[in-house]
Parts: sequence; structure tokens; C-alpha cells
Amino acid sequence: MLPPAAAGVEVSSGSLEVLSLRCSKIVSDDLKEPENWDLVKKAYKDARPGDPVVGKKTITFTQHCEITLALDMLERTRPGLTNTKIEIGVSKACCEWCCQYLNLLASAYPQHPILVRASHGKQRDGWMIPPSGPMSATQQMIRVIEDKVDNVIWTIDRNRRSHSNKLPSFQKKVKVGARAPAMEQHMVDF
Ligand SMILES: [Zn+2]
Repeated sequence: MLPPAAAGVEVSSGSLEVLSLRCSKIVSDDLKEPENWDLVKKAYKDARPGDPVVGKKTITFTQHCEITLALDMLERTRPGLTNTKIEIGVSKACCEWCCQYLNLLASAYPQHPILVRASHGKQRDGWMIPPSGPMSATQQMIRVIEDKVDNVIWTIDRNRRSHSNKLPSFQKKVKVGARAPAMEQHMVDF
């Protein structure tokens, strides 16, 4: 199985712009969009604004090799044909997205144990969701990535509230579709 061709895609470059894009998809009366970079820096002191800060950049999206190997081996190891154990030796720890995706593959194919040793925790630019992967893993992976961004947004929002004199209105009911603020403070590295 060949990996899909690398594809150059124009994407929003600035971190603030990306957060704003995602904010427009979250339905909540309580959430206030971070309107300036200072708010982001107050919550995440190591946050980087993106290069360029405003506008688009072209990112080359590729399918990482450990994913290509895992999908290929799953394709070859249909039950009854051969040994179903899948072993892939990789010399380096996987990026965070590969690690997450391989775990999702493992739950999509419980008959084939896939053990992932470690992730170095970096979130690489241009990580491609495998176009030929199972739909369930694709949908869950989108959710994983969205949740990461949502955690950042809610953390910035919570931080803004704690620095303002106004008490948050926790009584208000969050509309369907909004995510509850997660407890992880520093999960996402910009
Ligand atoms: Zn990777």
C-alpha cells in the first residue's frame, strides 16, 4: 500500500485566527472569544503567535510512515490468512497525533493488538488524517484534535474570568454542542 500523495493546503497561520475560527463553531453563551494575543499569553506563556501572524500559509500534509505501515499490515492480516499479531519497529517515538491515531486503530480492530511504545508529545504541522483509514477512527481523530483546541479556548476563557472582577455565570445552561471546560490546564503546546 502506497501512502497518499503529499498535498499542499493553504491554512490559516496565526494562532489567534485559528482559535477564533474554532470559537465560531462552539455554541455557548458563556464563552468569550479571545480577542487579543495578550489573553492567550496570560494563559499559555510559551504560546507562539504563528508565522505569519495574519493570513494563510501553505502546509504540506503527509501521512506519517508508522500509520502507513499499520494500515498496510491491518489490510494484509485478515483473520484466517496469517498471524494476526502486528509488530512495527520504529526507531523514534511517535508524534502525538500518530500515537493517538494508532490507539484509535487498536480500538477499531480489537482482534489486532497494536501497542504503541511512546510519543514524544509533539504535534507536527501537516499531519494528515489517513484517507484510507476506518471512518470511525477518522471521526474520533477529528474529535481528539477539536477537543485539544477547545481545551485551549476554555482555559483562556477561564483565565480571563479569574483575572476579572466579574464573577462567572455558571448558572447559565450551556447549549448542546458546547464542550464543558476541561480540567487539563496545559495540554496543548502551541
Ligand atoms: Zn507522526
